[in-house]
Amino acid sequence: MSGVDYWAEARALLAGLPDDGGLNIAYEAVDRHVAEGRGDRVALRWIGKHGEQTDTTYGELAQASNRFANVLVELGIRPGDKVFLLLGRVPDLYVAVLGALKLRAVVCPLFAAFGPEPVRQRLVLGDARVIVTSRVLYDRKVASVVAEVPSLRHVLLVDSSGPGVVDLTSLMAGASDAYAIAPTDPEDPALLHFTSGTTGTPKGVVHVHQAVVAHHVTGRTVLGLEPGDRFWCTADPGWVTGMSYGIISPLTNGASLVVDEAEFDVEHWYSILERERIAVWYTAPTALRMLMRAGSEVAHQHDLSALRVIASVGEPLNPEVVLWGRDAYGLDILDNWWQTETGGIMIANRPGVPVRPGSMGRVLPGIEAAVMQRDERGEIVRRGGLPEEVGTGEDGELVLRRGWPSMFRGYLGMPERYAASFVGDWYRTGDLARVDEDGYFWFVGRADDVIKSAGHLIGPFEVESALMEHPAVAEAGVIGVPDPMVGELVKAFVVLRTGVCDDDALRRDLMAFARRRLGAAVAPRQIEVRAELPRTRSGKIMRRLLRARELGLPEGDLSTLEGVDR
Ligand code: ATP
Ligand code: MG
Repeated sequence: MSGVDYWAEARALLAGLPDDGGLNIAYEAVDRHVAEGRGDRVALRWIGKHGEQTDTTYGELAQASNRFANVLVELGIRPGDKVFLLLGRVPDLYVAVLGALKLRAVVCPLFAAFGPEPVRQRLVLGDARVIVTSRVLYDRKVASVVAEVPSLRHVLLVDSSGPGVVDLTSLMAGASDAYAIAPTDPEDPALLHFTSGTTGTPKGVVHVHQAVVAHHVTGRTVLGLEPGDRFWCTADPGWVTGMSYGIISPLTNGASLVVDEAEFDVEHWYSILERERIAVWYTAPTALRMLMRAGSEVAHQHDLSALRVIASVGEPLNPEVVLWGRDAYGLDILDNWWQTETGGIMIANRPGVPVRPGSMGRVLPGIEAAVMQRDERGEIVRRGGLPEEVGTGEDGELVLRRGWPSMFRGYLGMPERYAASFVGDWYRTGDLARVDEDGYFWFVGRADDVIKSAGHLIGPFEVESALMEHPAVAEAGVIGVPDPMVGELVKAFVVLRTGVCDDDALRRDLMAFARRRLGAAVAPRQIEVRAELPRTRSGKIMRRLLRARELGLPEGDLSTLEGVDR
């Protein structure tokens, strides 16, 4: 089936607004279920930091989001205005996202752990009109910067009132719970997401309402979501995964979201999986590596028999983790690949398709992916992703043929950069990959992270994964350091598993192990043990920062803008 036909069929799975009114994400996520008689099902189970718990049905979520849309109307907010959210994982966040989408305002979630500077930068870049936040977050992160955001008209607090702010609770109490969504053009902007900033300054990425077609169908094909499933996405809605798959996709599919307000903790996470009978769990390599560090025995102490699908995204998933997952959970952890710009999953391991540990899977229906290479003059010499089209097994830039519904429609304030992301019909992802003869894609590295040593191109992921096969290693980050002889030397930073003792014998053993696995040309020349690795706020290993620190280079805007975890 051609891509066009596939997406037309996927669109037909959705209801569309009544009377041919177009396509609105919030209608598909909530109101449709109510219209079709499923309003009494639980949409959201919220588990608070202190163990409190509330259930919200689809019907209640529809009414609450209607009220929020009416509040925005009262405040003079218009379609296209940007509504920013700076909240922890609390029910108000979900209500605000859906209410703003109903009005056709553009929703921009911010990660609540950002400091004032990253908040200010994003509010300014995004022309924020409204921000919804809490008293604590307002006092700590917003109050000092509001004066520098000229576009900002209203600060709505979910839990209090005071000078310069509006008490959202009382406005909500006075608002009608009826709201008719106006006709929505599928191309109307809906979401603004900032990238993680792993390789540079975070970019603002714009998505439109018809992205919901991709969110919905990939929820079924990749996550295997079925109506009524208990679903837990551990990504914060401040990031694209937490929005596309933490809110939109599970709701359009009629699942029950489990939302956990607390931070990561091994015992706590297993208790949620067990007690809530989670069927589908979407998480990230960092968390899985930490669970692996704690050992399979801890997993075996819990009844995880409800689990049907475990999926992972955000960083490469080391094959070692997939093998461990089979032992710990009796399931294949399904790695999948996408990025803020693609809006939805593009390449994936899926239920029912054999997993090759270390591969991010095969391209999804409706998507055309290819590996692109250039000659010395920068001309494209080869492009293709299908075995018969190309010499498989060679590294190149991963490119996607434009035209899928959740493709981004722009980088905020950077039209040239957007234009430069395409070669003809192909979107350049900035990641390097290879494809094997059966169409499985293998992640090599980010184009910026690749190490050039003695004429070889070395992807850090391969080296990291090999190190992780050593029983003492829990995590690894690999970089190139300049060397007059070979260009760059491979250097590894490793975090050891709990209880392992760091001594000379271990280091010698690690070096020898890496050389055996990788060969002398690719194996690291230096290995340093660290208590932890630097990460972006969204949890990804930041090789750029490892390198900057190693070489004493300026860390650039990474630490201020991104709010790097140290
Ligand atoms: P920035 O673009 O600001 O540098 P970022 O690329 O980390 O940040 P995101 O859009 O959150 O921002 O992340 C997408 C990137 O994460 C992908 O381009 C890829 O490099 C990496 N990634 C995501 N999933 C996978 C995966 N399954 N395997 C390997 N890499 C992945
Ligand atoms: Mg990126």
